[in-house]
Amino acid sequence: MQKPILILGACGQIGTELTMELRSKYGAETVIASDIREGAGTLMQSGPFEILDATNYQAIEDVVMHYEIDEVYLMAAMLSATAEKFPMRAWNLNMNSLFNVLNLAKEKKISKIFWPSSIAVFGPNTPKDNTAQNVIMEPSTVYGISKQAGERWCEYYFNKFGVDVRSVRYPGLISWKTKPGGGTTDYAVEIYHEALEKGEYTCFLAKDTKLPMMYMDDAIRATISLMESPAENLNIRSSYNLGSMSFGPEDITKSIQSHIPDFKVIYEPDFRQQIADSWPSSIDDSAAQNDWNWKPRFDLDSTTKEMLENLRKH
Ligand code: NAD
Repeated sequence: MQKPILILGACGQIGTELTMELRSKYGAETVIASDIREGAGTLMQSGPFEILDATNYQAIEDVVMHYEIDEVYLMAAMLSATAEKFPMRAWNLNMNSLFNVLNLAKEKKISKIFWPSSIAVFGPNTPKDNTAQNVIMEPSTVYGISKQAGERWCEYYFNKFGVDVRSVRYPGLISWKTKPGGGTTDYAVEIYHEALEKGEYTCFLAKDTKLPMMYMDDAIRATISLMESPAENLNIRSSYNLGSMSFGPEDITKSIQSHIPDFKVIYEPDFRQQIADSWPSSIDDSAAQNDWNWKPRFDLDSTTKEMLENLRKH
């Protein structure tokens, strides 16, 4: 039987859907959602919720003890675009929250951790096409630096203290249930909303900016599948490359136009263009395929179909 799970940062783009999926899989009372703020009504009403600051070790420990938590999913973080505006706040949040959960596991108060890294861990000197698991990594953003440091610390805690920490480098994520939280790939969600609401969209990235992307259902499935894998199958304790599809604003525009022919996009790249230019355009995730049978289900056109259908309905 699944022991209790705590999700930190549960009200965000990923946390909301992850919480709902874990609750439907393991039972509502088994999954404790937490965040520094309240989230969507569906999330709040679906099971236990605690207001909890991921940078406060004592507060997390109290919740862990109270609910006899066994696994923690750490989804609280400041994302790439926002982090460029508040570098020290981003560093403090992204690193201290990670140390808190790693230290809880080191102290044997919890037994398993999920912590997400990102394609932002790569940098402008990384080969861009089919980027391999182990390549040169010189991230040039605050967010990317925090993810790279986080990966090193995860591997260190595994090797040194036997902490069972698991991680993937998420690509940009597309979802309709919760709006994205200040990342460089947010355009790929906004564009669907604006296509339906206004019939046009002003894109903050140039039209040929190809980035690795993934539909949220695939990301949630990957996360849970990695967490359920036998520990002995996992050869990577920093973070697994995770791939699905790669496209740029022009490709997503064409995909939307096959449903909404009059849809128009204007390109006005801003500071986020430079961040996007430092990231890979596609990802080699053969390690994830080999170690835990990773395989994506959604391509761009099936994503577009899901996004437009669901946004129209809700
Ligand atoms: P998000 O910004 O949508 O959600 C983050 C949540 O953390 C928010 O609900 C916020 O209120 C909460 N939070 C902020 N400070 C907190 C604190 N001190 N204590 C507790 N909660 C706090 O982010 P997301 O898109 O859901 O991302 C989750 C994780 O996945 C992050 O580590 C992010 O770096 C990573 N990631 C996301 C993407 C993506 O495309 N969404 C891509 C790569 C990696």
